[in-house]
Amino acid sequence: MINFFYISLTALSFSWFLTAKPNMIVIMCDDLGYADVGFNGCKDIPTPNIDSIAENGVRCSNGYVAYPVCGPSRAGFITGRYPQRFGFERNPQYKPNDPGMGLTRDEKTIPELIKPAGYHSGIIGKWHLGAHIPTSHPMKRGFDEFYGHLGGGHFYLPEKLTIQRSQDAKNESDSYRTWLLKNYQSVPPRKYLTDDFSDEAVAFIERNRDWPFFLFVSYNAPHTPLEATNKYLKRFPEIKDAKRKTYAAMVSAVDDGVGRMLSELKKFNLEENTIIAFLSDNGGPSGKNASNNEPLRGNKGDVWEGGFRVPFAIQWKGKLPKGSVYKNPVSSLDLAGTIVALAGVAIPEEKPLDGVNLIPYLNGKNKSKPHETIYLRQFDRNRYAVRNGNEKIVILWKGGSPSLYDLSNDIAEENDLAKERPDRVREIDELRKKWNRQLREPTFLGLIHSPGWAKRRRK
Ligand code: CA
Repeated sequence: MINFFYISLTALSFSWFLTAKPNMIVIMCDDLGYADVGFNGCKDIPTPNIDSIAENGVRCSNGYVAYPVCGPSRAGFITGRYPQRFGFERNPQYKPNDPGMGLTRDEKTIPELIKPAGYHSGIIGKWHLGAHIPTSHPMKRGFDEFYGHLGGGHFYLPEKLTIQRSQDAKNESDSYRTWLLKNYQSVPPRKYLTDDFSDEAVAFIERNRDWPFFLFVSYNAPHTPLEATNKYLKRFPEIKDAKRKTYAAMVSAVDDGVGRMLSELKKFNLEENTIIAFLSDNGGPSGKNASNNEPLRGNKGDVWEGGFRVPFAIQWKGKLPKGSVYKNPVSSLDLAGTIVALAGVAIPEEKPLDGVNLIPYLNGKNKSKPHETIYLRQFDRNRYAVRNGNEKIVILWKGGSPSLYDLSNDIAEENDLAKERPDRVREIDELRKKWNRQLREPTFLGLIHSPGWAKRRRK
């Protein structure tokens, strides 16, 4: 009897193991430089917890996002599709009354895609995909829980959050001052924002540990405004530059939060059933927040590598090789591709994902490349970057002839090889044109089109 009981219990847990769907946690920083984490060589800001994701998993040295600024990059990540396909090619204006200012309902988000497989999804932090609550709130886009802010950035110190309702913020800069939204309810500020988000992330894991979950931890740090508390500032007595010091403190606060989430997963024995990805939404804007993208060329907003190649690491204990480095290009779009494949849900045929399931590539079972080509278009600036293999063409203005860089030996994009390799320029430019024909024009005006901007331009 006891034996029978034991066997059926074992069989039960074995079958649970076979059918259990993995959790996914995506930790996304905002405007973090390529070189500002230990796993990419940062020396002045210790990030032991973030680094442990790479140490216990895979560091992707050629990890890209779909766009070099926040909103479109996030629209790509959350749909697994290039945002240029559906007209999300600008940072949206903060318009609580405009349902068109954000992510179109014609596209499905990760939570919408995996909900049929029984996933519970939460987002903590920055949304930036639309401020019209009745249609664009995260919980109208598949998420079951939200704690955060709707706009593209936020003040970090509680005393600066002086606007109670998100709907009352009239523009993007106002939106930095709103109280946080807990689902649909405005709640008064509690503490330093990054710590507040980390608290919520830890609580989410505890609350949802018994069923498959998708958690998007969307820290607005270290995006401007540069604000940190003494707890973190005093960790950096040796950094003299005030901007860099505050930036370092902000990154350090994120690292603490990552450490707390990892401990929580360990505490509930969830490490082997949880994929954890860490990345930035775009490259660092060095001049604004003192971030560092070395050795990459360029900054946030650029089609150079520094604009859209980001710190990128993935851990899945027992499934991905510990401490490995993956050098083929991967994309933030692949996070959707991965979780959708593991959840076993079907993708609408007319809207295939651009992202793929990374697991077979990262564990070495599939030796080919997840992507032969990585694409970028910036509609308003007529700029393009297309990487095919290790060669990349860059176009900087309308009708401009492409320059060509070989990233295998020129990561800083210093030597234009267009004249030496005209055939490759032609080939890659053909790929660009073919891709470009699949895209549409932006469907809404961006932050740069605000009345203030137009007035300044006229002067
Ligand atoms: Ca950003």
